[in-house]
Amino acid sequence: MVGKVVVVSGPSGVGKDTVLDRWRDLNPRVERVVACTTRAPRPGERAGVDYHFMDREAFFAQANAGAFLEHKEVHGEWYATPLEPMEAMVARGQIAILKIDVQGAFAAKELRPDLILIFLMPPTLNDLRVRLERRGTDSAEKIELRMKNAEEEMRLGENYDFIVVNDDLERAVTELEAIVS
Ligand code: ADP
Repeated sequence: MVGKVVVVSGPSGVGKDTVLDRWRDLNPRVERVVACTTRAPRPGERAGVDYHFMDREAFFAQANAGAFLEHKEVHGEWYATPLEPMEAMVARGQIAILKIDVQGAFAAKELRPDLILIFLMPPTLNDLRVRLERRGTDSAEKIELRMKNAEEEMRLGENYDFIVVNDDLERAVTELEAIVS
């Protein structure tokens, strides 16, 4: 079976992790590509599972060697998608999932036009706000910032190959499955 690379983006709180975890539970071919970062691990994060944590020297050595599909700076720390594990998943016939932001997604698509770009959309902006509040991981100010960013991201998301509304978890996962098959 031929593997595929699927990029999943969407505003913070839309349910990317929830949907991807559920999809992977239902389809063993679905596999996340672990990103590289220069930021320090947060409590509970595991190296090689949540991120490949590396210092700046190693990060830029890899970037210069062409090891990354895309890389970018966010709040002073660097993040990247490593090519080798992604290609290895495709070679094994897996559905390699990249969870990356809108800018990274467009940059990646330019290099690899065969990538499938999927944007996860909240049913409404109010649903997004409720999910961010219920998740309980962000301060009130952080939620306002995320809501402000969401509008711009959703505008750019209109240019994705597919838009999936995360209204009902099972329905959204069924739609993802239909898109890749
Ligand atoms: P993201 O990874 O996009 O930031 P999360 O996966 O952390 O988002 O989900 C944000 C919150 O929304 C979580 O509390 C999650 O349980 C909830 N959520 C996810 N999908 C749905 C859905 N289809 N309906 C209702 N709530 C959802």
